[in-house]
Amino acid sequence: MRYGSTRGAAAPRAFDGVLLAGLAEDGGLFVPESWPVFSPAEWRAMRGLPYASLAARVMEPFVCGGAVTFADLQAMCRAAYRPFDHAAVVPLVQLDHDLFALELFHGPTLAFKDLALQLAGQLFDHVLQARDERVTIIGATSGDTGSAAIEACRDRARVDIAILHPLGRTSEVQRRQMTTVLAQNVLNIAVQGTFDDCQDLVKAMFADAPFRDEVRMSAVNSINWARIAGQIPYFVAAALALGAPDRPVAVSVPTGNFGNVLAAWAARQMGLPIERFIVGSNSNDILSRFLANNDMRMAGVIETVSPSMDIQVSSNFERLLFEFLHRDATATAQIMADFRATGQMAVPEPVWQAVRREFTGFALDDDATLAEITRIKQDYGYIAEPHTAIGIAAARACAPIGLPVIAAATAHPAKFPDAMERAIGIRPGLPTRLAHLYDRPEQFHRAPAALADIETMIRRFANRNSV
Ligand SMILES: *Cc1c(COP(=O)(O)O)cnc(C)c1O
Repeated sequence: MRYGSTRGAAAPRAFDGVLLAGLAEDGGLFVPESWPVFSPAEWRAMRGLPYASLAARVMEPFVCGGAVTFADLQAMCRAAYRPFDHAAVVPLVQLDHDLFALELFHGPTLAFKDLALQLAGQLFDHVLQARDERVTIIGATSGDTGSAAIEACRDRARVDIAILHPLGRTSEVQRRQMTTVLAQNVLNIAVQGTFDDCQDLVKAMFADAPFRDEVRMSAVNSINWARIAGQIPYFVAAALALGAPDRPVAVSVPTGNFGNVLAAWAARQMGLPIERFIVGSNSNDILSRFLANNDMRMAGVIETVSPSMDIQVSSNFERLLFEFLHRDATATAQIMADFRATGQMAVPEPVWQAVRREFTGFALDDDATLAEITRIKQDYGYIAEPHTAIGIAAARACAPIGLPVIAAATAHPAKFPDAMERAIGIRPGLPTRLAHLYDRPEQFHRAPAALADIETMIRRFANRNSV
């Protein structure tokens, strides 16, 4: 499989090039040049496979052919999903006649990002080994992504990872999940500033070509195609369990950067009858406003009880736009340039209508989210954290009659104890694997939000590890 940019001005690459590059050099996102399609018989033959085998089968057309063989991919999937706490890896829990929670939080850091990142860590090592190269992965986090990325890269032979978090602005669970990993190849930097400062610093490092080349900078943020690929298999597993390809289904996904719901849509492109995509948001509801009235307008980020969705611009939306513009990269580049310049995006009316035939938006503010957590516990006896609760509420409000709905349960309730206590008076306990999180020593470096200081720190760290 080869990949091209949504903006059409980057050289096409194979999977390993896409994995290492992340963003395309024209500012666009890599997309597969065509969608692999499985026949109904091929889908049926995947029913009942263990999750790691299913995942390898679904990802094979995206990943294999160059540096990664199918046998390699199978071995990496087994290793990636072995540390999960549930034998089914992604269990599907029935809440109501036609409503199912797809639990994606049984991995090492208790959020769905582990599914793709545990595998991405393996893929990085494998591809770098074949090329005899090393990289330094640099990222900014407000919480979930950083811990999942560190957990995926700890102790890998060819990867160093430096993660910037805003000092004192992540939850204690989130911080400790990062800072108690005492591996030689992990550097935690607590920046005196906000998450936006952290993200700006990472962008500035990417723009600093001598620095970028010296440390061989790379990224694992959610625009990396490997992240999307690693999220397709669980939607496939759930749809097959509910009767696809012989029965249509719907999905409901609490959405921030649009990566998870895009992975579900990819499964549809591959031939599964997922007939409706319900997109849940918190008060940062730019996507649901777009779906309601074709008006995508940037506003300031509002802090909510579902912090992993406190995002204004959903980067992965560009991939969907590109597809609905019939893969017209020139038109995509133009719309994205206008959006950047004006803070506003309106897509051509027929394109918007086509998107609306598949996608429905839904948003809840914090009070409604907490009320929903209470209602879900009352109605189903199910404990849902704030992001998951928004997805379940969206499924209840927007699901077409007669279609079973898969609601993505994206995090474990123990990650958000304050919100859970406010909603239902319970602070959910951490699973056994994290029971000692509060006793373990932490290690992190403080730094001012100044590019030169942080580059020096990372340079020293990367050089130490490459000798
Ligand atoms: C990252 C995250 C989301 C948002 O997912 P996107 O792929 O960015 O849309 C939702 N819920 C939780 C718990 C997350 O960590």
